[in-house]
Amino acid sequence: MIVSPNEDARNSAAGRLAAAMLCEGDGPRPCGACRACRKALAGIHPDISVVEPGLDAQGRKRREILVDAVRALASDAQVMPNEASGRVFIIRDADTMNPQAQNALLKLLEEPPAGVSFVLCAANEARLLPTVRSRCERLRVNADAAESEEAASDADALLEKLCSGSRTGLCEWCFENEGMDARRCEAMLRAAREALADSLRSEAGRAQGAYLDALLARCGEYLRRNVGVKAVLGLIAVDGIQK
Ligand SMILES: [Zn+2]
Repeated sequence: MIVSPNEDARNSAAGRLAAAMLCEGDGPRPCGACRACRKALAGIHPDISVVEPGLDAQGRKRREILVDAVRALASDAQVMPNEASGRVFIIRDADTMNPQAQNALLKLLEEPPAGVSFVLCAANEARLLPTVRSRCERLRVNADAAESEEAASDADALLEKLCSGSRTGLCEWCFENEGMDARRCEAMLRAAREALADSLRSEAGRAQGAYLDALLARCGEYLRRNVGVKAVLGLIAVDGIQK
């Protein structure tokens, strides 16, 4: 599983990983020069398949990968490779699979057809079922390390305020940061949700963690719909501490 907040970074890492899996070279993989690598890196290798949410009628990316797509993948995975020794399925935005789709995938991950590998790409692995996560090896890719460090430190500051119990402190923090640009705010919300995923695993933090996770998810969604940062931070200031 490739985890990165940056879509291009995780998709290109997945492409390189798939090329490495099918590379016919002798040295370090992917060699970039053999027939398999060239086809893989050009996106035309017949034994590498990509599953993604796809576009809706308006040309916008769909929000979910549905179970039908995973079922189609499952039957496709039974087919023998065309020219390589195995096949690779890349699932982009795997964290948009709904639970039904994830459960269908889980069956495949548990008993993959011979020679078949799966590469999952995810922005937020916390959205994947623990059973799916536990079947994956994790590879973190940072397109821009400085950017993700900034997101993590913003997220720490936000979570500290959210968990402090002080409404005044939270409001002040939100007010001070309302000039943050939308991209940075979105990265912060994502990082905060990743950090929350840890607390969701402990009994004590679960209720508050789940509440905050839902709130931050809602805020992220608003940002993607072009609601301003000021309004989103205002919502966090008002709803961040449960009454
Ligand atoms: Zn190669």
